Amino acid sequence: MKLSLIVPCYNEEKNVRPFYDAVVSAFQNEGYDYELVFVNDGSRDNTLGELKKLYSEVETPIRVLSFSRNFGKEAAMRAGLEHAAGELLCLIDADLQQRPEVVVQMVRQLDECPALDCVAAYPAQRSEDKKLLFFKKQFYQMINDLSEVEFRQDASDFRTFRRPVAEAVLSLNEYHRFSKGLLSWVGFNTAYMPYEVQPRAAGESKWSFTKLFRYAVDGIVSFSTVPLRLPMLLGVSLCAVALLMLLVNIIIFAMRPDAFSYDSLVLFLIVLLAGLQFLCIGILGKYLAQTFEQSKNRPHYLLKEVIEPKSCQEKKEEE
Ligand code: UDP
Ligand code: MG
Repeated sequence: MKLSLIVPCYNEEKNVRPFYDAVVSAFQNEGYDYELVFVNDGSRDNTLGELKKLYSEVETPIRVLSFSRNFGKEAAMRAGLEHAAGELLCLIDADLQQRPEVVVQMVRQLDECPALDCVAAYPAQRSEDKKLLFFKKQFYQMINDLSEVEFRQDASDFRTFRRPVAEAVLSLNEYHRFSKGLLSWVGFNTAYMPYEVQPRAAGESKWSFTKLFRYAVDGIVSFSTVPLRLPMLLGVSLCAVALLMLLVNIIIFAMRPDAFSYDSLVLFLIVLLAGLQFLCIGILGKYLAQTFEQSKNRPHYLLKEVIEPKSCQEKKEEE
């Protein structure tokens, strides 16, 4: 199988058929062997019914995975990747905001350039609400500052990639998944391609501002332990201020004992104690950060290629 199109669907009953038709018309003259992996993410409407109907009516290989409830788009994408059979895998939304013609271009680019592992699409122009765009920009600035992984602001998870990339992403087993981060974390050669975002074909977006905000926090927590290190910074700063205050008190006491006030000594003790408390929380944070990193159980490295000594290769061929 050349290509698997992985399509998360949550309440997309009106989009299933038009999406299928659009895929068929985009691929009809391409001669690619492809399958569609629909993941019904606990839809409350008749999405599953529409998918079953499509399955029984058409010849194209279709796989339908149906969740017991709504687990979210990230879980749907993971399930799709786990069950897809293609050499190339494409993550695409069901609402036709992302046209299948762009997928054809992505596949062509991957075919033309064997060194390339992934083609990620980004919106040629953003027609979103200005406020939302502002928050998105701030978020990407923040996550890029806080994390070692590089996040491209406008790259979406509308991507086509080779199987090793999918396997690498699947080897990351963490529960809170932030796909854009995971796809950056695994590395590989990625090309970026602009695409025209279309208006949603039917239904409405499932992402409210609160949901996006929660997703953004998940992203930062998954890819940075800097917030856990903040108390340490605060603790060290407060202790430094406390020591400075002590020094000033000693100087005043030595030079003009009559001007010395016990109040400033009390203030010094308060700042010192607060500093020590933050320092202790910071130490706990440091251990917590390490435990957290360990609990994600990410691989220590990902191999893309191994070139063995020629003698070993000959031995293998003989066997
Ligand atoms: N989706 C999903 N589970 C969810 C929310 C969304 O599978 O909990 C799917 C949805 O059906 C669509 C894609 O994810 O195919 C993108 O969702 P949406 O169009 O609502 O997001 P937007 O384009 O507004 O960012
Ligand atoms: Mg959409």
